[in-house]
Amino acid sequence: MLDPSPGEIRNWGNGVVQLMIDYLENVDEGRVYGPILSSEIRKQLEPSLPTKGCDFEELLQVFRETIIPLSRQNAHPRMFGYVQSPGTPVAAFADLLASFLNANLTAWRSAPAPVELERLTINWIRQILGFESGAGGLFLSGGSMANLAALAVAMQAKGKSRDRLCLYASRETHFSVSKAARLLGMGKVHQIAVDERFRMRTGDLRAKIAADLERGDLPCCVVANAGTVNTGAVDPLTEIREIADLFKLWLHVDGSYGAFAVLAKSVSQLFAGLERADSVALDPHKWLYLPVDVGCVIYRDPQMARTAFAHHAEYTRVIGAEAEEAFAFWDYGPELTRRFRALKVWMLLKGAGLESLSHAIEGNLACARHLQSLVESSDDFEMAVPVELSIFCFRHLPARLRNESPGVIDAYNERLLVALQRDGSSYLSNTTLDGRFALRGCVLNYRTTLRDMEILLEDVRRVGQATSEP
Ligand SMILES: *Cc1c(COP(=O)(O)O)cnc(C)c1O
Repeated sequence: MLDPSPGEIRNWGNGVVQLMIDYLENVDEGRVYGPILSSEIRKQLEPSLPTKGCDFEELLQVFRETIIPLSRQNAHPRMFGYVQSPGTPVAAFADLLASFLNANLTAWRSAPAPVELERLTINWIRQILGFESGAGGLFLSGGSMANLAALAVAMQAKGKSRDRLCLYASRETHFSVSKAARLLGMGKVHQIAVDERFRMRTGDLRAKIAADLERGDLPCCVVANAGTVNTGAVDPLTEIREIADLFKLWLHVDGSYGAFAVLAKSVSQLFAGLERADSVALDPHKWLYLPVDVGCVIYRDPQMARTAFAHHAEYTRVIGAEAEEAFAFWDYGPELTRRFRALKVWMLLKGAGLESLSHAIEGNLACARHLQSLVESSDDFEMAVPVELSIFCFRHLPARLRNESPGVIDAYNERLLVALQRDGSSYLSNTTLDGRFALRGCVLNYRTTLRDMEILLEDVRRVGQATSEP
């Protein structure tokens, strides 16, 4: 097993490729999810510590017969829950090759060509976002780590007494931001009010900054959203940049869900000002359709990141190298050993090209808008908030509940959601907006069609009929 023959490698590979083909041929017809029990999974997994080995075919069989069926099928076109990418075969092959080469992207000398490929790919992402040529960054495990890295730099850049530093973010901001602030020892996190479309109210931002200054606290950083995870709201980036400049604050933009939608003409104007942020968090494992994990942080001035992360230990000292070859990613982020995430990003961007990615993202946006127009022309659904990007939030409101209180309608929708997830034809998740429950979906799959949005509403109606009110 550790050192297979060429023939074995070929057989294993053929088996894996055939499994992928069979999976993709059938995923549309199957269920996204179903009622799965932990006990059922454990029953199927041999628990004893293996002393003797087994065949590859036996391992693959467990993957085929237990792991796949007892997973949520993220490639399914009606997987609308959370912010979930479908993955794509080219990236699966890229991950295979990356693991095969087992490059370790700590520093240039450890992985010369892979490091150059990451720098090239990061430079493409910089151009996609519209940053000037000095900007740069690196890949990380996800948006949470990207937010953490960016805030670490912001704090380093803005002050010494950490416990007096203040961060500002709308109350719709992803929890990874306040988590990062807490881990880093940031003094205060202020939640800024939002308008009726869940965008940051800049008046409230100014007021809170002014109050902190008055008190002798140290305003440090504003986090703006380029696509909130609840509703897809994009904060007014240009205006927030002006306020940040006025008070000399770091502006970090969390674009983990939404920023790649800058590639879609129909919404790109929402992202004006993004390129003037001091840092941006992105998740190629969301709207670039890549498999987990790959997050990304871009710094407008990467030298600032060195002040937070550069570390000079004797065992990492680069000896006798020229500037380009002395480059080390550990100077720009929290990790040392790093997998070759850049390969899948590069293979996708180069293999698909921006035109087809823009087209796919426009298709996702069109699906969310189609859902909205279906809801608006129906008499048994209501939108909870207008669609901004590819997230849609709505409620089922069948005739029999029309005169009930919001509480009753919300409780019904909550039960409906659980039943829908168990039914498995379509998968939604949930959110709370202004204190009210909403069914929440996000279109993030290039396989999803307008027809899928119609099927979703049919599924909700069908499951709703069997769902009692509380
Ligand atoms: C997903 C998401 C995150 C967290 O990213 P991970 O990759 O899950 O760590 C942060 N912010 C927003 C807006 C997100 O959508």
